[in-house]
Amino acid sequence: MFELNEQQCSMRDAARKLAQTEFKDKAHIWDDTGDFPYENHARLKELGYLGLSIDEKYGGSGLGMVDTYLVVEEIAKVCMTTALLVHDQNVIPGIIARCASEDIKEKYLKRVAQGELHCSICWTEPEAGSDATALRTTAVRDGGDYIINGQKVFTSFGDHADMHFVYARFGESKGAKGIGVLLMDAKSEGITVQTLPKKMGTRGCHECEIFFDNVRVPVENVVIEGDPKSSAGFVKPLMVYNGTRVGMGVMALGVAEGAFDLARDYMKTRKQFGQRLADMQGLQWMMADMAIQIESARLLCYQALALFDQGAPNPYLSSIAKVQATEMAQKVVHDCQQMFGGYGYFGINPIERMVRDVRMLTITGGTTQVQKNSIARHIFSN
Ligand SMILES: Cc1cc2nc3c(=O)[nH]c(=O)nc-3n(C[C@H](O)[C@H](O)[C@H](O)COP(=O)(O)OP(=O)(O)OC[C@H]3O[C@@H](n4cnc5c(N)ncnc54)[C@H](O)[C@@H]3O)c2cc1C
Repeated sequence: MFELNEQQCSMRDAARKLAQTEFKDKAHIWDDTGDFPYENHARLKELGYLGLSIDEKYGGSGLGMVDTYLVVEEIAKVCMTTALLVHDQNVIPGIIARCASEDIKEKYLKRVAQGELHCSICWTEPEAGSDATALRTTAVRDGGDYIINGQKVFTSFGDHADMHFVYARFGESKGAKGIGVLLMDAKSEGITVQTLPKKMGTRGCHECEIFFDNVRVPVENVVIEGDPKSSAGFVKPLMVYNGTRVGMGVMALGVAEGAFDLARDYMKTRKQFGQRLADMQGLQWMMADMAIQIESARLLCYQALALFDQGAPNPYLSSIAKVQATEMAQKVVHDCQQMFGGYGYFGINPIERMVRDVRMLTITGGTTQVQKNSIARHIFSN
């Protein structure tokens, strides 16, 4: 049985209060304008929510994955763009903490923990999406620098980030071998950023194409040096991604719960055929089915996160949790929209935004199909 302790309950309650009282009513603004949620970022920074999982030694809160994602879940119930901010601050610091030199940790983790530094992840390329090992961006040594050339796509917060966490190929190699990671100052000469237009949801977070034209990165900013004879530079960060992809599942869980609450409240007031929607058995069963799906996803996600906190991460269970939660949320949010009839089809109703926001979660962080490939590999590996 998975249970939260007293400290986790009070942290969840504090995050819930913040989300419900400060973020909920503003969520439509970032969607309408496409603006970065600066106000929310400032509040998260003030409250220390941008360094939740970063070690206390570097100014963070030193919390585990369960604790961190309890906060993300509460925020995702009302504003997925803002939840992404907290989620992102858990991904790159996680890789830096596990893979980088002490100098990099001292220099960057403290500033990330204080919310002063935002890093984007530049991994995906036009020809390297699900097949991430097909990346072509190159890192070539020149004296005390590496020179980076290549193109990235779909980089979240790419136009807002202070640093880019860039995956590149070191030396002549193919596949996973030779891949490494560097931290690039976003103001470096030779970087061009183009924001991708007409995004479907989470519009306060921009995805970008980023072009590197002979960008110089000092060798001390290499987080993991690619070795043409080894795939370690690719494999080492994967364990962190396995955890944060469950985090994507938790975000989906949050959006599904937020939509469920909206639908339930509406069903108590809306009457047709002389009775409340809440009293119609066909709709009651739809809500019961959704509750079953939500609670199942919750157990899978928090079980997978708890295994990380116990030092026994399980990529198989992480993939299962991500698929179950993100696919569940697509269905649940659509079914909740159905409860509103025509009133759910217009942007004045937050459910319309939620339907768009949640769509990205079965794609990013490893698509459902790619997760199923991993699950199947595990099933047939013995
Ligand atoms: C909103 C958003 C934010 C993102 N943020 C970032 C970011 O910050 N940084 C970053 O680096 N990337 C980011 N991405 C990129 C994301 O990780 C990729 O979109 C994803 O990995 C899929 O790659 P692709 O889009 O090239 O699709 P493709 O790999 O071309 O896949 C197309 C379809 O084929 C399926 N498919 C592919 N290979 C297989 C296979 N072997 N078996 C079965 N089915 C398969 C896929 O599941 C998918 O349905 C983001 C994407 C989105 C949409």
